[in-house]
Amino acid sequence: MYTCAKCKKEIQKLDTKFTRCPSCGHRILYKQRQPIAKDVSTD
Ligand SMILES: [Zn+2]
Repeated sequence: MYTCAKCKKEIQKLDTKFTRCPSCGHRILYKQRQPIAKDVSTD
């Protein structure tokens, strides 16, 4: 998932040939990190 740097709109799917925000047309998109299930180890 990506987030537009300008309008903060979340973009679920991004075409590799069209790396622009579909909402505002801004080119800079932040790649969001996937929520990783962390295993909290307890000693
Ligand atoms: Zn945008």
